[in-house]
Amino acid sequence: MPGFELIGKEEKKQIESIFQNGGVLFRHGFDNLRNGTFKVKEFEEKFAKKMNSKYALAVSSGTAALRVALATLDIKPGDEIITQSFTFVATVEAIIESRAIPVCIDIDKTLNMDPDALEKKINKKTKAIIIVHMLGTPCNVKVIKKICRSKNIALIEDTAWGIGASVKNKYLGTWGNIGTFSFDFAKTITTGEGGMLLFNDKKLYKQAAAWHDHGHENNPSVPRWEDTRSSSGFNFRMTEMQAAVGIAQLKKLEFIVKSHIKNKELITKKLSKFKNIEFREKPENSIDSAEALIFLVKNKYLAIKCRKALLKINVSTKILPEATTWHFAKHWDHMKELKLNKKNKNYLKVSNDLLARAVSIPITVNMKKNLPSQIFVALNKVID
Ligand SMILES: *Cc1c(COP(=O)(O)O)cnc(C)c1O
Repeated sequence: MPGFELIGKEEKKQIESIFQNGGVLFRHGFDNLRNGTFKVKEFEEKFAKKMNSKYALAVSSGTAALRVALATLDIKPGDEIITQSFTFVATVEAIIESRAIPVCIDIDKTLNMDPDALEKKINKKTKAIIIVHMLGTPCNVKVIKKICRSKNIALIEDTAWGIGASVKNKYLGTWGNIGTFSFDFAKTITTGEGGMLLFNDKKLYKQAAAWHDHGHENNPSVPRWEDTRSSSGFNFRMTEMQAAVGIAQLKKLEFIVKSHIKNKELITKKLSKFKNIEFREKPENSIDSAEALIFLVKNKYLAIKCRKALLKINVSTKILPEATTWHFAKHWDHMKELKLNKKNKNYLKVSNDLLARAVSIPITVNMKKNLPSQIFVALNKVID
């Protein structure tokens, strides 16, 4: 689990360095006060370098990152954006905020977007696809990218989970035209609230950078208050304090993901003794960020029993099976803009069947040594 396990003196030192250098909390200007300290800029540069991407843009949250990504598309009334049924509400909220129509489609056994369902759903109104690497396991990104390319449709990766994970040695968030990240307090690395976008295309980057900052072009030949403007926009800027924490957290990313993978393997090994469970699938040649260990049991009643058995040993499950109301589109009656095709009995049926019988064990960095055994003993009481 998240970077919050590892908040410590490195983050504090980073924050202090802002105050030792004039205390400028804004990413732009005040050059005579700040002694060359530009934390947001530094965080962006380090992030892009780490991910082998050309441009990074820091923003105020992961939801903002999605909204800013969508601002680079020329969305017209009636345009549709396809995403997957299993995600956090934020993905769909960003689509709604962009005045596009959200379309949620089924997942496969990776518990991410099913490429076959995508092919069937793409039509003339489809403007973009947002894939999500839910809880750190990559989707079938190679196949989906191919589909998007052949139809000339933009691909956005919601990499709120999956930072540090990769497919074929290429980091998640760098496969699509734009990758978005979240640094909220539950995510793999955190800045309290915060987000990032990655681009390889300079034009997209410039459009996004201006839009997230009221259209500011940050033209170096004029002061900011006389700046040139490229479009309307909004304010989704990151603060220097968030970025300072981000710089320290980014250094810990590799260690976090490695520890996750190691700890997930230890639990997986124990659970492999159960013959009647099925582990979540992962695309070939992929490395996940191992945020959670998800397995499927035979029915939803058993999934709930597993959760109760885990709670008894103070292990809470993560999203599945208990929190699908926030993470499964089928339940989102509260969003009037999201058209739920409830009359169709097969609507999101595959997703429903998979998610209802899924159990998700959170993985932490600081795992107690005997936890895998404890989990096995607890589940052994309910799984036959
Ligand atoms: C957390 C999350 C977001 C939103 O990120 P915030 O930083 O909390 O705004 C978007 N998509 C997914 C899949 C998430 O889990």
